[in-house]
Amino acid sequence: MSQRTLTPRAELHTHLGAAVDPVIMWTIAHRQGIKLPVKNYWDFEEMITVTPEKKNLNLDEMDKHYYHWTELIQSSPEAIEEAVHSVIGGGYRKCNLVLQELRFNPMKRNRTGERDLDLIILAALWGMRRAMLEYPQVSAGLIISLDRSFTLAQNGIIVDKAIRYQLDGIVGVDIAGPDRATFSMKAHAPLILRAKKAGLGITIHAGETGNMKELEYVVRRLRPHRIGHGLIAANDKKLLEEIAKQKIILEICPTSNLCNSILKGVDELRVIIRTFVESGVRFTINTDGPEMYRTSVLKEEEFLLAHDIMSEKELEQCMRWAFKGTFIRPRSNGNAQESKALQKYMVRRGSTLLG
Ligand SMILES: [Zn+2]
Repeated sequence: MSQRTLTPRAELHTHLGAAVDPVIMWTIAHRQGIKLPVKNYWDFEEMITVTPEKKNLNLDEMDKHYYHWTELIQSSPEAIEEAVHSVIGGGYRKCNLVLQELRFNPMKRNRTGERDLDLIILAALWGMRRAMLEYPQVSAGLIISLDRSFTLAQNGIIVDKAIRYQLDGIVGVDIAGPDRATFSMKAHAPLILRAKKAGLGITIHAGETGNMKELEYVVRRLRPHRIGHGLIAANDKKLLEEIAKQKIILEICPTSNLCNSILKGVDELRVIIRTFVESGVRFTINTDGPEMYRTSVLKEEEFLLAHDIMSEKELEQCMRWAFKGTFIRPRSNGNAQESKALQKYMVRRGSTLLG
């Protein structure tokens, strides 16, 4: 193993729907009796993974063709526990991720209300706890994602849940999903500010596609701790200065941006990343979902080095920012902080596991 492989890493931007090994997803789907539109495992692997050769035309295609299936398969307490558990352990084994934040939308995993939202979240937290027991070197936290296709009322419920389970390992709130004409960032501002006031970390997918007005609003009004992607900021010198001054960290996901046709190619990626470096903007290197994009933080770093986009020294700086910019805080008194709900859930799951 090379020195590079052994370096402890952190990843801050991974979606659960894109992060679970297809082998595990295949087993989970079968255990739950989900009817899949494929003839064999290999077709399934092809169905839930993306490569640069079979790009998506846009984020809508990504959502419709890939996330639809992965979110459906993860839509039960049993499935989400297994899924979260596998991602935290897998990140450590494959890439030496000693710190991992994993994001998901619980309301996209409760079969439109058929399953209990609290149980979905508690099961995810328990999956994370189990992984941390098995890999004590790893710190992990879950981010709850709101969605642009949801109503304000639905997203409000999600924020309430995130605040409720803050002591148990929910570390932040995110807004995700492709652009929607019905979505208003301004209307969602009170929700985000409520989560921020409650002490949750705030990261928002913005500036991935061309909505500059939305990105400006996010930077100037919501002032999040981090922004998912933020690529188009590279076109606006003044906004870049504000991002740098506010120390907002951009979570960059190179392969994902190339696979989803957000960027035309490596040359465009190089120009954007060099602009960020030269403007003093803080950013981190992420996968967006290692299994769906068949990548890892390690592979992303090697890709950036191989294409002369970043130097070793610059990558090290990004990793320092990742460890610094995490929403995961060390626990002062360990499990004593857990909510009654998680304690009950753990006892129930524990007794199930034991016998
Ligand atoms: Zn993302």
